[in-house]
Amino acid sequence: MSSNDTFDIAIVGGGPVGAALAIALRDSGLAVAVLEAKQEFAARDPRALALAEGTRLILARLGVWDALAPHATAIETIHVSQRGRIGRALLEARDMGVPALGYTTAYGDLYQALAAALPEAGATLITGARVSAVRPAAGLGLVEFEQGGSVRGLSARLIVLADGGKSLPGAVKIKDYGQSAIICTVQTEVGHGGRAYERFTPAGPMALLPLGDDYALVWTTANDLVETRMAWDEATFLEHLQAAFGDRQGRFLAAGPRSVFPLRLVTASAVAEPGLVRIGNAAQTLHPVAGQGFNLGLRDAWWLAECALDFPREAFGGPEFLAAYRKRRRADVRGGIAMTDILVELFANDLPVLSQARGLALTAMDMLPLVKQSFARKMMFGVQAW
Ligand SMILES: Cc1cc2nc3c(=O)[nH]c(=O)nc-3n(C[C@H](O)[C@H](O)[C@H](O)COP(=O)(O)OP(=O)(O)OC[C@H]3O[C@@H](n4cnc5c(N)ncnc54)[C@H](O)[C@@H]3O)c2cc1C
Repeated sequence: MSSNDTFDIAIVGGGPVGAALAIALRDSGLAVAVLEAKQEFAARDPRALALAEGTRLILARLGVWDALAPHATAIETIHVSQRGRIGRALLEARDMGVPALGYTTAYGDLYQALAAALPEAGATLITGARVSAVRPAAGLGLVEFEQGGSVRGLSARLIVLADGGKSLPGAVKIKDYGQSAIICTVQTEVGHGGRAYERFTPAGPMALLPLGDDYALVWTTANDLVETRMAWDEATFLEHLQAAFGDRQGRFLAAGPRSVFPLRLVTASAVAEPGLVRIGNAAQTLHPVAGQGFNLGLRDAWWLAECALDFPREAFGGPEFLAAYRKRRRADVRGGIAMTDILVELFANDLPVLSQARGLALTAMDMLPLVKQSFARKMMFGVQAW
């Protein structure tokens, strides 16, 4: 490839969101390049992801779900509660008329299913290519990357940043929650039976997601406690987890290796600018409390592909194209960010009056089927769902 190579769309970052976009553009007839810094499309990442029902539908349309389904665990009920206070809500798939409210999968399994579909997508896959600079422009923009010790370049009508938001400079707004997520798998005495838990504690929310025979734990932890919790031996860790979670699943029996992810809300100042669109974590990186990050990012990819199919290639990155993309994504993205942020802030505060109000709100949601269904629909299909 020479620096004169020209593409309709250059996707910077072949993570789950960038890969999904390339697959969604499969039958478009467009010249698409995917530049991935890693040597291959594979991930060793300890995260477990809760995939919404809407995400399953998109993955099915991308032809990826069948490969992923054997590695996905159905979430049939979600139990939402707060530690030490009354009030709980139980969301059930059968109330919604769906087989599952969502599915839990290992990040690596999701990525593997997407990576397996990439070669058929017809895109030019450039691995071991770390993009060092982008110069978007209406018309043709430039992407500069390092590969095998040399600096190379390509041109594209539209540059899509799907790099997770950490590698290239750009104006961002950061809200630091002062929290990190400690994640690992845990075994419980009582089998999960498809039940997930979202449990709010004064120290931050904790989630248990059914994954295979185990649970995937996401334990939000104030940053100054992370070192101590990571240093605990397994027995001490399980003891403290039991105290924080309670005994709804019987005793915690075992815990796998722990990993830590710092938690911040990072939003790009501009999701779209002439010649460039940011998607996935490059556009918004969220707290995992509501399991929205990948689900939102996948919808970014899906709707960007729809825009690319609706417009002639000459219009890519131009004002009408960008306005159409912004319009399609605005409500969903803003709603997803707001819902996540409100949950973190509202449930982190332990003022007695607030915790009583939260308890009442959970009880009310549990007793009002329409409210419950509306909330469940938003979790399944995005905040723009009615
Ligand atoms: C603890 C935790 C739990 C979570 N749980 C959930 C959940 O339950 N449900 C959910 O929907 N979401 C969840 N998320 C969020 C989800 O993990 C992310 O939203 C998702 O992984 C983002 O995917 P992405 O493709 O945008 O970015 P990434 O996964 O970061 O991928 C970016 C890709 O770009 C490549 N890259 C980076 N820089 C460059 C460069 N300069 N040049 C070329 N390539 C580059 C990287 O190698 C990588 O492959 C969770 C997150 C955390 C931290």
